[in-house]
Amino acid sequence: MRNKFTALGGPDGGDGGRGGHIILKGNSNLWTLLHLRYYKNVLAEDGEGGSGNNKTGRFGKDIIIDVPLGTIARDEETGKEEVEILEDGQEIIWMPGGKGGLGNSHFATPTNQAPEYSQPGLPGEEGWKILELKVLADVGLVGFPNAGKSTLLSVITAAKPKIADYAFTTITPNLGMVEYRDGKSFCIADLPGIIEGAAEGKGLGHRFLRHIERNSVLLFLIPADSPDHKKEFEILINELEQYNPELLHKQFIIAISKSDLLDEELMKAIEKELPENIPHVFISSATQKGIVQLKDLLWKILNEETGK
Ligand code: GDP
Ligand code: MG
Repeated sequence: MRNKFTALGGPDGGDGGRGGHIILKGNSNLWTLLHLRYYKNVLAEDGEGGSGNNKTGRFGKDIIIDVPLGTIARDEETGKEEVEILEDGQEIIWMPGGKGGLGNSHFATPTNQAPEYSQPGLPGEEGWKILELKVLADVGLVGFPNAGKSTLLSVITAAKPKIADYAFTTITPNLGMVEYRDGKSFCIADLPGIIEGAAEGKGLGHRFLRHIERNSVLLFLIPADSPDHKKEFEILINELEQYNPELLHKQFIIAISKSDLLDEELMKAIEKELPENIPHVFISSATQKGIVQLKDLLWKILNEETGK
C-alpha cells in the first residue's frame, strides 16, 4: 500500500471471492424435471476480485436448481453418476465455483515484507451435465388397455403433475399423487410401454424400465368382466417377464376393477381362482367401492417394502 500519507504501508491486497456454485436442491413438491426443459445453459457468477485495504472480493452468487427427489446428476461425457438427490431440502454442490485468489498480504514474511506477489484464483468447472429422474412412482399400475387404469388414477389421485412423453416415444406416462392419511402421500403411475407399447418394440420397454427401478409395488388391474381373470393375470406376468425378469421380484397386488359389475356370488367365484399368495381387492372407480381398502393395502405394503 502506498498513498499520500503512507510511504511504506505494507501489503494490503485482499483475497478474491470464490465463483458461484451450481447447487442441486431436493424439492418434494416437484415430481418431474419438466421445469428445466428449456434451462440449457446455467452460468454461475464469477467471484469478485480482491482489492486494496485487505478487502475480500464478494463471492459469486450461487445458482440453486430445484429438482424432484430421485434425481440423478451425471456427467455427459463420462456418464458417471455425480449426485443423487433423495431428501427434501437436501443441497449438494454439483459444480463448485472457482476458488478465489489470495491477496498479497498472505505472502508477507519477515524477510519479504512487501511481496509483489499474490496467488491467482482457480477457474471453476465447466461441462455438459445430465439430470435424470429415476423415481416415477411408488406404485406401478399394470393392466391391459381398458382395464380401467386411467379411470382409477383419476379417482385415487389428487394432483396430476404434468409430464412429458418418454424420450424417443410418443407414450406419455400417467402419474398422480395419492393423498393418504396425515398428510402422507405416495405416487402412482400407469406403466405404458410395458403392456400397451409392446408392439412398438422391446427397446422401448427397456428404456422405460430405467424409470421404474424404484417402483416398489406393482398393482395389477384386472377388469371384473374379463373372460378369465387368472389367465389374464398370467399373461400380464408373462409380458413383464419378457421385458425384464427383475420386475417379478417386486411386490404384487391384484385389484379386480369394475367390480360394480359383480354380485357376491361372482366375487366368490373369482376369488377362488386368484393366486393365494398375492393380496387382492375388489374395487370400482365408478362407485368408489374398495378404494379406501386399496389405499390402505398399498400404504401397508409400501411401508413394509421401505422398512426392509
Ligand atoms: P385404461 O385403458 O386401462 O386406462 O382404462 P380406462 O380407465 O380408460 O377405462 C376403460 C373403460 O372402462 C372406460 O369405458 C371406463 O368408463 C370403464 N371403467 C373404468 N372404471 C370402471 C368402473 O369402476 N366400473 C365400470 N362399470 N366401468 C369402468
Ligand atoms: Mg388409459
